[in-house]
Amino acid sequence: MKKRKLNKAIIILYVVSALCFFAAIFRCFEKIETNLKQEMYYTLSDMAEQDVLAVKKEMKAKYRVLSSIAMEMENHPEGEAGILSSMRSFVEIYNFKRMGYAEADGLADTTDGFQIDISDRRYFKEGMQGKLWLSDTLVDPTNDEHELIHVFSVPVYEAGHAKVKGVLFATYRMEDFQELLHTDTFAGSGFSCIMWPDGKVIAHSPNSPLSEVENIFDYIREISPGNGEVAAQSEENMKQGLTSSGSYEGNSMSLLFHYRPLGGVSSDQQWYILTIAPQAALSERVAPIKRDVKRMLVIVIVIFLIAVLSAIVANYRKRRILTSLAYQDGLTGGDNFLCFKEKCKNRKSADGFLIAMDLSEFKVINDTCGVEKGDEALVALWKILSAHTMAVEGELLARVNADRFVMLWEAAGKVEVESRLQEIIAEILKLSEQLKIPKLFPVFGIYQIEKMEEADNLYGNAVQAKHLVKGRRDRHYAFYDEIDRAMVLENRKLEDSFEQALRDREFQVWYQPKYSTMEGKIIGAEALVRWRKADGKMLAPGRFISLFEKNGNITALDEYVFRTVCMQQKKWEKEGKELRPVSVNISRVSLYFSNIVDKYREILREIDLNPSLVELEITESATIDNAEIASLITGFRDAGFKILLDDFGSGYSSLATLNMMHFDTLKLDKSLVDYIGDENGEKLLHYITRLGQSLGLRITAEGVETENQLTFLRDLQCDDIQGYYFSKPLPLEEYEERLNIEGKG
Ligand code: C2E
Ligand code: CA
Ligand code: CA
Repeated sequence: MKKRKLNKAIIILYVVSALCFFAAIFRCFEKIETNLKQEMYYTLSDMAEQDVLAVKKEMKAKYRVLSSIAMEMENHPEGEAGILSSMRSFVEIYNFKRMGYAEADGLADTTDGFQIDISDRRYFKEGMQGKLWLSDTLVDPTNDEHELIHVFSVPVYEAGHAKVKGVLFATYRMEDFQELLHTDTFAGSGFSCIMWPDGKVIAHSPNSPLSEVENIFDYIREISPGNGEVAAQSEENMKQGLTSSGSYEGNSMSLLFHYRPLGGVSSDQQWYILTIAPQAALSERVAPIKRDVKRMLVIVIVIFLIAVLSAIVANYRKRRILTSLAYQDGLTGGDNFLCFKEKCKNRKSADGFLIAMDLSEFKVINDTCGVEKGDEALVALWKILSAHTMAVEGELLARVNADRFVMLWEAAGKVEVESRLQEIIAEILKLSEQLKIPKLFPVFGIYQIEKMEEADNLYGNAVQAKHLVKGRRDRHYAFYDEIDRAMVLENRKLEDSFEQALRDREFQVWYQPKYSTMEGKIIGAEALVRWRKADGKMLAPGRFISLFEKNGNITALDEYVFRTVCMQQKKWEKEGKELRPVSVNISRVSLYFSNIVDKYREILREIDLNPSLVELEITESATIDNAEIASLITGFRDAGFKILLDDFGSGYSSLATLNMMHFDTLKLDKSLVDYIGDENGEKLLHYITRLGQSLGLRITAEGVETENQLTFLRDLQCDDIQGYYFSKPLPLEEYEERLNIEGKG
């Protein structure tokens, strides 16, 4: 849950930082764009400025000439004709088309020999008003070429008078005037014009598209209806004499413009210079910068993406490692049970066989050969199972824990499962020789899947089936349907009736006498519990002990037997009978209750009995993985009890436990006694007995049934004999009878 939250936070962090990053880049780009646009306006403004200077300079030069001639004419009123001829040289020098002089009546003589009436021309009228003037574009009236011209005019005063007597003018070819506005900025796509604030065009660059245009604002408005506002605003600005910039939409492109007052030759002539250039052309100028910025941007984005990508990859890898840790079995490298369960969930087919497997007494290997060897055995085992499982598509194998494995097979039927298991078993049995370890005895429980359900349930069923063969040495596997349902029900009944049975004293203590090997006399007995049901049916402990070990009732039962034996001993004591020790069994489960020592000691005290009269039998297997057992045994011994190591040699024997823990008696299991007759077995018995005795232990042989066995054990100087040869377990009365007979004998 925590992890998921963390992942979510990381993703959000990535997204937010990516967004911030792109926003920053976008912002930066935008800023650059505005700056560049600003830069373009500066360029335009420069252009306009240059035009203004050029035009002003030109006009100034022209008017200076005209003014000086006009002055001359003032001072030499008689010499007009002469002046006209000298004007001709000015025409050439100053690149005029012609010059001329008009009297007050408006009739003019020109340097190129024309006599024209200019009385209706504004430049004449303004000149007569004493103003300098430059005309708008006019059509040359002197020929049919309709050449476009501009006319500069200056007043000529009467000598010494303030009165204007005529107007001197110079005609300027518009072509030449336009040359002043010639600009090759922006690769020739920029242009300028001189105009009136109301939009009327006076002159424009030769390359401009304005040749047909009379009013620039009308023109702009016509191109696109959207330009209305900018046209109006600009017109307004110009009327106020302001300098400004802006943009308008041309034919399929944006145009940027800048305007500034040019000033006229007279104060009435407040002309403007307007420079225009397509935004695209301007963009071209900044294209290299933009290109560089874009390149940088791409590099930065690529770096950022690489960084994010590698972070994601690293995260993904980390997660994969974590997942593999969660789903992988550390020892074999195969799947673990968690992974198995996941795979089961995703399974398509709904049938098959679920097989639970483990090894009988695998702990022996760890104990006798070391954990490393144990691990080696498990890996080898996994390899065998894997080879027989993974070959079939859809089959699963996992290690549950320790020596427990689980498989899911797609086999067609039980027969196929059995034959495959036989092959596996054969290989596992061979493994012991290969690895030089004690014999591995694999057991399998098989559950035929009827409908797919939780893997835990399926596994539970298979394990139940496995219990049918666990501990048996004659069979390796069992199917779930072999489990006797009636037995399961019966077990439930036994469990349910335990407490009542205990109160009703249905549990009886029987006594199996122990005989001294040498004299053949009863030296004591082992107390063995029997359950006599109300209906008279007698149950042997084998039927219920393991059941009660599973549900925990055994603790109460062991205590009950112990108490019964103690009271019996007390009774015999009171009756003045010869007292012989009776051993009681303590289940490994009872041992887990740590206060058992106190409890048993308390019972003794309550009954007031010498602890040497009740001995305690603890099975060898209980000592295996209970680390606290040693201190428990010490506790019992301190309380005065004698401890018998029961069933020695039944499962496997760890001779080390003999040395480590302080037992009083070693009880040789029936399976060892049964070796008598076999040379190796006899040797084993020999050494165990010698070892036990050398450690100061008393040796009791269990399950002695034959004369032969007795003789061998006697030769071995084994101390005591317990077995059918002398006596089966007996009800109290019969045991007392035996004691009486012996007492009499
Ligand atoms: P155990 O402690 O090893 O007891 C010896 C078992 O071997 C007894 O079986 C006894 O009847 C049987 N036996 C003795 N001599 C021979 C023989 O010569 N041949 C054969 N075939 N069997 C012989 P029983 O009474 O059925 O008890 C079985 C097991 O139940 C006991 O094995 C013991 O582990 C457990 N048990 C019995 N009573 C108690 C008890 O009060 N508490 C606990 N925790 N376990 C008990
Ligand atoms: Ca016993
Ligand atoms: Ca025993």
